[in-house]
Amino acid sequence: MNRDKVKVAQIEVCETAKKMSSSGLVAGTWGNISARVDDEYMVITPSGMDYNKLFPEDMVVVNMKTFEYEGRLKPSVEVPVHAAVYLDRPAVNGIVHTHSTYALTMATARKPIPPICDDQVQILGGDVRVADYTMPGSKEMAESVVKALQDRDGALIANHGAITVGRTLAEAFTGSQVLEKTALIYINTQSIGGPVEISREDVEFFHDFFMTKYGQK
Ligand SMILES: [Zn+2]
Repeated sequence: MNRDKVKVAQIEVCETAKKMSSSGLVAGTWGNISARVDDEYMVITPSGMDYNKLFPEDMVVVNMKTFEYEGRLKPSVEVPVHAAVYLDRPAVNGIVHTHSTYALTMATARKPIPPICDDQVQILGGDVRVADYTMPGSKEMAESVVKALQDRDGALIANHGAITVGRTLAEAFTGSQVLEKTALIYINTQSIGGPVEISREDVEFFHDFFMTKYGQK
């Protein structure tokens, strides 16, 4: 394992955790964030700690195959979900998991979010599916989240929350904000007759544009 890469990942995860806690996407210590180090290791937020009191070296280095970890703090209980996603998706380098209000509203109703907003389909890749209700931290939750994330960069987890992934942790964080906003828009449109969905053709075009052409290269 490359120690410099670990340090960079620890700084990134710690900074994003503080950003998440001030963004209103999480309440208390719920929710967790991780970044890939390589094919074997990831760095993840520790379990049940106030993110504002943490330092980069408190971010836990975990082996994705054995779940063995280094350091004095225990990693988040949701290690199996993060590890399963990294192992399934080699292009994913960052994961954000929240229990944010509007995403959780949809997840609790167990209703997928159809493709309705431009930024949603660009960054998340289309509709947002709901992973089955399973025990947090279980192998079953890991499997159902991996399935719900097929060809998507965001999913809801039934009665639990939301998860977003990205080529970078920053992209996964933006995805979590877009997912929360999309859930709110969906709920709002229910009072005015419901949303008009974006066509499958346009979804594919805009997601491809985001993945290949958007931003500065
Ligand atoms: Zn959770």
